Amino acid sequence: GSRFQVVQQGPPIEVFQLNRMFLDDPHQNKINLSIGAYRDDIGKPWVLPVVRKMEKQMAADETLLHEYLPVLGLEQFTAASTSMLLGEDSPAIAAGRAFGVQTLSGTGSLRVGAELLNKHLKYTTFYYSAPTWENHHLVFVNSGFTSPRTYRYWNAKTRSIDFDGLIEDLRSAPENSVILLHACAHNPTGIDPSQEQWEKIADVMEERKLFPFFDSAYQGFASGDLDRDAWAVRYFVKRGFELICAQSYAKNFGLYNERVGNLACVISDASLVPAMKSQLTWIIRGMYSNPPAHGARVVANVLANKQLFDEWREHIKAMATRVIQMREALRAELIKLGTPGSWDHIVKQIGLFSYTGLTQRQSEHLVEEYHIYLLKSGRINMCGLNPANVQYMARAMHDAVL
Ligand code: PLP
Repeated sequence: GSRFQVVQQGPPIEVFQLNRMFLDDPHQNKINLSIGAYRDDIGKPWVLPVVRKMEKQMAADETLLHEYLPVLGLEQFTAASTSMLLGEDSPAIAAGRAFGVQTLSGTGSLRVGAELLNKHLKYTTFYYSAPTWENHHLVFVNSGFTSPRTYRYWNAKTRSIDFDGLIEDLRSAPENSVILLHACAHNPTGIDPSQEQWEKIADVMEERKLFPFFDSAYQGFASGDLDRDAWAVRYFVKRGFELICAQSYAKNFGLYNERVGNLACVISDASLVPAMKSQLTWIIRGMYSNPPAHGARVVANVLANKQLFDEWREHIKAMATRVIQMREALRAELIKLGTPGSWDHIVKQIGLFSYTGLTQRQSEHLVEEYHIYLLKSGRINMCGLNPANVQYMARAMHDAVL
């Protein structure tokens, strides 16, 4: 017998399984609303033109080598990324108490950041929103956190934020709990706290001495504006919090498989930066040694050049606008059909996703009867919809809720 017979089949990853089922499905009206990737208005993946341009330039540049990057990555990238998050005029950057380290996209950033907090600050309790991106739990537990907890976030009845529940849960969190906060475009609900609500969250976190760990996977995707989408993080920094933030360039640059991320750290004492960087070096050294260069070079070059940067901002705006148009189109179709219930939440939600409010049974009905692939939580990727399929989607939803 094999010594590996102790290895048991694990459960599938829902989102990848649905994606696979979609690809294998020959039905001509099938729709993929599962995986969180942008699709254009004819349902195709979109390589941003500014990325394509940069890649062509890089391919022709024979001075570019495949030497190892430093363990903490490309300095030009991490500096540009940290500044995109905190703002060019950030006093924390000017004071030398903010810095970034390159990571394997947003997931890698969460993983490295969580290990730093667990190993060096000895933090063991973390809170994530109910619901949240389904990988948060696993990443933190694998980083050494032993007490996973949730704070209330989604009110299924009102299809909006359960703000009183959220505040109550934060109030009862033990000191030094790590609070995972979505910087913008909350996944999966598409609902962010208002600025006033963020202020109250900050009040409680300050009072209870909780640690903010922001997850910024969609900067630019919520409002189409990079600065507006960074408001919450910048506000916490302005309030004097120390914090870390996982930045991903998967969605806003369309660089999903290049694994481009930055772990931005803001601390109160600049003299501790060398020690922080040294320990982050050892964490990464023991995990994957050093990061890949290609995607980070693309992002760094675009962020460094005013003209390319403006071009990229136009791309983001175009993506965000298309998502908003699909929200309006879907709601309009449902109203036209007289589908029971209120569908205002679809247009109130922001970012890539909509938490439709469809039940598990209704969601499965869409998969089984209509070849429309969505998570059983009822979360849909809005840009899987386009002018050619939004009517089909509305009719399927209508049938499912009847
Ligand atoms: N955080 C959130 C909330 C996400 O939705 C995602 C991707 O779906 C990520 C982090 C990480 O993505 P990646 O590792 O591809 O950057």
